[in-house]
Amino acid sequence: MRWSKTYIPTLRQNQSDAELVSHQLLLRGGFIRKLASGIYLYLPLMQRVIDKFSNIVREEMNRAGALEITMSVLCPAEVWQQSGRYDTMGKEQIRLKDRHDHDMVLCGTHEESVTSLVAGELKSYRQMPLNLYQIQVKFRDEIRPRFGLMRGREFIMKDAYTFDATEESFAISYQKMVDAYFAAFSRAGIEVQKVESDTGAMGGKAAHEFMLLVDTNAGEETILTTENGSYAANLEKAVFVDKAEIENESELKELETVDTPGAATILEVKKFFDVKSTRLAKTILYMADGKPVVALVRGDRDVNEVKLSNAVGAVELEMAKEEEILKYTGGPVGYSGPIGLKDVQIIVDPLVTKLTNFIVGANVDGKHIINVNCGRDFNPTKVMDITLARKGDKSADGSKLIAKSGIELGNTFQLGTKYSEALGAKFLNEAGEEMPCIMGSYGIGITRTPQAVIEKYHDDKGIIWPKNIAPYLVCLIPINLEKEAQAETAEAIYKALNDEGIDVLYDDRKERAGVKFNDADLIGLPIRITIGDKSLQDGNVELKARSEKDMELVKVENIVEAVKKMANRLN
Ligand code: ATP
Ligand code: MG
Repeated sequence: MRWSKTYIPTLRQNQSDAELVSHQLLLRGGFIRKLASGIYLYLPLMQRVIDKFSNIVREEMNRAGALEITMSVLCPAEVWQQSGRYDTMGKEQIRLKDRHDHDMVLCGTHEESVTSLVAGELKSYRQMPLNLYQIQVKFRDEIRPRFGLMRGREFIMKDAYTFDATEESFAISYQKMVDAYFAAFSRAGIEVQKVESDTGAMGGKAAHEFMLLVDTNAGEETILTTENGSYAANLEKAVFVDKAEIENESELKELETVDTPGAATILEVKKFFDVKSTRLAKTILYMADGKPVVALVRGDRDVNEVKLSNAVGAVELEMAKEEEILKYTGGPVGYSGPIGLKDVQIIVDPLVTKLTNFIVGANVDGKHIINVNCGRDFNPTKVMDITLARKGDKSADGSKLIAKSGIELGNTFQLGTKYSEALGAKFLNEAGEEMPCIMGSYGIGITRTPQAVIEKYHDDKGIIWPKNIAPYLVCLIPINLEKEAQAETAEAIYKALNDEGIDVLYDDRKERAGVKFNDADLIGLPIRITIGDKSLQDGNVELKARSEKDMELVKVENIVEAVKKMANRLN
């Protein structure tokens, strides 16, 4: 492609509405333009990146036996009502009415569509395993669209869905997708880490996320992992083995209400009683889908709201407001406790049930209760792990958890039979019994991933694309096109590379060399060929990798081979 014939509107200035360097570089490099919050237009360079990454993903999906289809983005509400998610997706789901006043949605994911597709058509175990996927636009009215393509309201996703007849067969289907993910990301030039994650609104049993670890503020997720990777989970999911030393008394003492004026925080209460915070239980009131729930964790720990949501099966969970605390506990903020509560669910962490004679709020201003024992003084609705793990905690094998920041590029969900039962995707097994299909769902962010790659690979001059998803492999720059020898050599090299099927962007603009070099560094093509008078006198051109400092001189007639060789050793 000739630069003069394409459309690459590069910008000199940093853009004020882009926080992340990757977002900044996409705008400045002329890859994308914003139409509205979270809605972007992909320009020619971006389109090429998207096409290249999509094709890698497509090849790996096909290799794993998945079949490409395309499902509609517009979907009647009924399909979502059948699964129950019409009520649980909240405002993220874009809803509209068609001209017949029929409720419709713009899909943000396609479990419902794909399950209704196979329902009634998959009749026998012999038709499985089946894996259907698509690469397609998705709509989600994100609460906080930000960071450019990282969190858009319209974006492209690869989504695959598997249908299996048995758990054994499902395990193989799942593993095939995991392997395909590692292969696809590796071909895109990045190493991802697979971590355990929460299943969230998807329902289902287990899930994994594929994270790109970054040092910048682009990592929206925190990962807790051991140094050797023996354990890795995102913060929402992470579990740990408690190693705190607890000073438990063996004899259960009588309850006692104590005046603790002005002691409302854990720190103040701990000081007041001169005890460790592990002798206290924190009682926090939440509103779960409008209903009151208290969460009890040990005084030195915090509540993991995702674990708590799961424990109570809540779609929306919020910390209670002051007036709600007063209404449901009878006391003010800072003095909540589990004793004497009515019509409030009490979810207690197992670390609290192990304590004896601990301290809680009395639900009365300026008072706490001491010598509290779970089961004797109040009854938990549920005992469940609701504690937030943190760095420094110990994993099951005794190693220390460290925190890393990551960008989620893809995920895999074990859905079980939630959707197949709801939407009637049933088949006859070998014994002739009717069974729901065992399903999995698998996403990759097709537009998020390239931006994440930039977050990882850039310098102060611009992007450094990995070769397989770069819009072009080579940037060909004659310093001065007015000089006949340079122009002729440029045309000859352009033709030679094209003939070999090498993607080359030929900067044939009548711009100063400085402008061309700046633009080339900004858009970040992996290899640059520079044609200048001095080297050309000896029949040479300059060959340089974007990721490296030094250039080499190559005879014009050897340039194709040299480009291939350089490409081979580059990421
Ligand atoms: P997140 O936790 O980041 O919101 P998610 O769990 O909602 O992601 P999925 O619904 O599983 O993500 O979607 C699969 C993939 O699609 C994600 O791993 C991510 O790469 C991409 N993705 C999800 N939401 C967006 C978005 N708003 N903009 C761009 N890509 C997205
Ligand atoms: Mg999301």
